[in-house]
Amino acid sequence: MSVCGFIGLGRMGGAMARRLIAAGHQVVAYDLSEAARTTLEAHGARIADSVAAVAERAPVVFLSLPTPEVVVSTVLGSQGLAAGRAMRLCIDLSTSGPEVAIKLAAGLSGRGVASLEAPVSGGVKGARDGTLALMVAGPQSAWEQARPLLEHFGRPFYMGERPGAGQCMKLVNNLLGACAIAITAEGMAIGARAGLDPVRMIEVLNASSGRNSATQDKWPRAVLPRTFDFGFTAGLCLKDVRLCLAAARSLGVPLHVGDQVAALLERTVGAYGADADFTAMARMVESDAGLEPALPPLNASQSQ
Ligand code: NAD
Repeated sequence: MSVCGFIGLGRMGGAMARRLIAAGHQVVAYDLSEAARTTLEAHGARIADSVAAVAERAPVVFLSLPTPEVVVSTVLGSQGLAAGRAMRLCIDLSTSGPEVAIKLAAGLSGRGVASLEAPVSGGVKGARDGTLALMVAGPQSAWEQARPLLEHFGRPFYMGERPGAGQCMKLVNNLLGACAIAITAEGMAIGARAGLDPVRMIEVLNASSGRNSATQDKWPRAVLPRTFDFGFTAGLCLKDVRLCLAAARSLGVPLHVGDQVAALLERTVGAYGADADFTAMARMVESDAGLEPALPPLNASQSQ
């Protein structure tokens, strides 16, 4: 058993922290949201008063935070983790992009703290079930130390020592995942206009060469039942696709399809709000095709 710190107890972080507790580790946790803190406390975590207090108590600290800016300020900000005396290893599970991984590695190495990036794929269900894929990069020794802990979350893939390699892999994955939703939405809209049964269409696609992560997971779980609650927000998905476009630009790779997916996501966030599920992309395409008569009004909490 070891003491693990955990910052960011949202959809993904809360579920991963619970897996550490279930495996017998002592978890010292913090989140801005009182509801998130209280929920994890009920599962056996000790709640710290602040980010810095976590790094005063835990030698290994995990982060699962929404944006690159929040990750950087949480680790390197004046009240951040870097000042904590106990922390020796910081593991960023968030999708924060290669530049952040490079910044964290540089900012922490001078303080004798190792930095690993380990962004994850597999959604809320994967986080709950411990079936995530983790794309890990950072010093070999830190990887070897972290591996048994990361295995509580799923299957870790080591991408090498170079900071940013794990984040780059994750951005490529999420670009493909978002493209799959966008193109599946277009295919399903063609079928709906032509009078095909959507349930039958998904059945056929999943037995044919058009199958993908959207036909296999997103449509059966969140689009066909019209619940649009797969568990990843359109705002965070747009953040990931934008990070991927920026990384591609810096590498000299044009993303013609990626640009179109970013534009669809921007319109989806504009119409349904950043907190809408990313499967709302399907509603946007349906609306473009005249299949959805009217968009619901934005409510205040969805308007940023
Ligand atoms: P979320 O919004 O559900 O959770 C984020 C949590 O961070 C919230 O509880 C929030 O209160 C907390 N937080 C925000 N700012 C904070 C701060 N300054 N200090 C402490 N806590 C703070 O988001 P999520 O869906 O769990 O995603 C977390 C990360 O995982 C993101 O980087 C996302 O891109 C990535 N991710 C999400 C999924 C998914 O399916 N939801 C899948 C793979 C990767």
